[in-house]
Amino acid sequence: MNQPPEYCPYCGTALAQVREPMIHRCESCDDYVFYNPTPGGSVAVVDGDSLLLVEDFRYDDRWKLPSGRIEVGETMREGAIRELEEETGLSVEPDALTFFSEEVVEPVEGMHMTNLSFATEWSATTGTVEAGSDATDARFWTPAEFEASSASFTDVHARRFGSDSLEWLLDEAKRALES
Ligand SMILES: [Zn+2]
Repeated sequence: MNQPPEYCPYCGTALAQVREPMIHRCESCDDYVFYNPTPGGSVAVVDGDSLLLVEDFRYDDRWKLPSGRIEVGETMREGAIRELEEETGLSVEPDALTFFSEEVVEPVEGMHMTNLSFATEWSATTGTVEAGSDATDARFWTPAEFEASSASFTDVHARRFGSDSLEWLLDEAKRALES
């Protein structure tokens, strides 16, 4: 379930809110129904002074790190790698990913997410950069190119990292890779 529930998943009764958005109660079942955030993963692929971003298919010229929701049975790394492959065409081995940051993603259309971001070097990946599902475009940007263009980060990306600066994001990813 990706949204806080309104009805009991067992009997269909409208739930009472105990503590939004986490805790709900079904009086018919005499039990609580909990809502948990959806886990997500991202990969920052670094090539020297540039970072790989994807253009969000929902908006014009709005970019983000390759990212998405973890699926059942996947580790965080496996899910982040699958999203990277789906959105950019690049593959990478799990042990080539370095933990880089963790974020609470503000709810989008009611969906709360908790995200782990990893960094990797472009040289550790295989494949050719090509935009895939959910991405209109995929390319490496230097901070100067990004600044000089009409491109910007999606609102969700900027709120998630508390920054809409590509330079800051690139520095953070590089610091993680160097440590
Ligand atoms: Zn119930």
